[in-house]
Amino acid sequence: MTVTAIVGANWGDEGKGKMTDVLAAQSSYVVRFQGGSNAGHTIINDFGKFSLHMLPSGVFYPNVTNIIGPGTALDMEILTKELQELKARNVPEPQLKISERAQVVLPIHRLLDELEEERLGAKGFGSTRRGIAPFYADKYAKLGVQVADLFHPHRLRERLQQLMVIKNVQLQHLYGTNPINVDDMVAVLLESFSFINSYVEDTTMLLQQAYMKGEPILVEGQLGALRDPDHGIYPYSTSSSTLAGYAPVGAGLPPYAIGNVITVVKAYSSCVGAGPFVTELHGDEADELRRRGGDAGEYGATTGRPRRMGWFDTVATRYGCMIQGATEAVLTNLDVLGYLDDIPVCVGYELADGITIDQFPVTAELQTAKPVLRTLKGWKCDLSHIRSFEELPEAAQQYVQYIESSIGVPIKTVSVGPRRDQVMTR
Ligand code: GDP
Repeated sequence: MTVTAIVGANWGDEGKGKMTDVLAAQSSYVVRFQGGSNAGHTIINDFGKFSLHMLPSGVFYPNVTNIIGPGTALDMEILTKELQELKARNVPEPQLKISERAQVVLPIHRLLDELEEERLGAKGFGSTRRGIAPFYADKYAKLGVQVADLFHPHRLRERLQQLMVIKNVQLQHLYGTNPINVDDMVAVLLESFSFINSYVEDTTMLLQQAYMKGEPILVEGQLGALRDPDHGIYPYSTSSSTLAGYAPVGAGLPPYAIGNVITVVKAYSSCVGAGPFVTELHGDEADELRRRGGDAGEYGATTGRPRRMGWFDTVATRYGCMIQGATEAVLTNLDVLGYLDDIPVCVGYELADGITIDQFPVTAELQTAKPVLRTLKGWKCDLSHIRSFEELPEAAQQYVQYIESSIGVPIKTVSVGPRRDQVMTR
């Protein structure tokens, strides 16, 4: 049994959480390998509706071991809140393991994220203000705190002292706020850690052994390909790699372990935050798609912000699937489009110099791109009860087939609603 990655082809919010929840039923391990509490996975199942930010999406299956891997940004407060919420809503205690090598999002990271977004004003990136950019910046500047450091208060204090020499200069002289006392920080962190320290272990060894035994492992990406810092729409990207290629690193598995890259593709486009978004709709058209999208409209699972809406973008999605290394695709939210007579899709970008391209360009060119649209026939009916591809109306089948040929990846699963059972395989 190989390892399966579930990742996004677009800007995030493709419905990865739902698909992980579906596939977790056949897995022994579900692993988060990057990102932190800056994006939410919506899951609707027998226990109700959940928006998970830190917890892996396998927590609803008592037989699944859920791992928060070394590549993640551990937000201890959010994790504790999510665990408390599961308990309050009668979900059986999940099996959870936190990597001792994961690094911890510090209160100073959240504060700096907020202060910087305020300083940037209209030039901001639409950060979720969960501290993710300052966190990863410090991780790679070797100023971060590993989970294991929290078992050693003396070492923790030293690490924080080193960090705060720099941060306090920034706080006072760039943002004009008060410096922060290291002892206060240590106390806050140790208090937060006390709620979750029993979950910490060497998850790399655990996963390597599970892999050697051939156990089914699911690695779960956050956000989508177009948010990857190397291959996405930089700087409107996130701060950790959202690609399946990073999954073995962020999880702690051999690079050749990933055998299957299930890439989740949304039947239209949606995006949270700033940056070029070529197929973006405005006004009534956008409002209607937003209202009908997802399980209760397209609003950010972390911030509640209205998502920016657009038509399906073949240029961006083909690229997203390519950089993910997609071996198969899941098309989600097909049901949402059932109100349209005709469905526009973007087949190319017209650049400032009048040239039309069908390959995803760098941000400088993307900024000027205008969509070249064609329309496909709508099906004008409700698909949410349909469970086999053959039963879909012909126009819906054609829409799926068109997307499949445009992205060059077999669409093996189609999702027609937010619930676990609203899927069909082909
Ligand atoms: P994720 O981060 O990729 O898991 O995506 P989000 O949870 O942020 O957003 C996906 C939204 O779409 C959620 O509201 C899901 O409940 C919803 N959803 C997932 N699949 C479908 C689908 O096939 N149809 C509809 N209508 N909603 C879906």
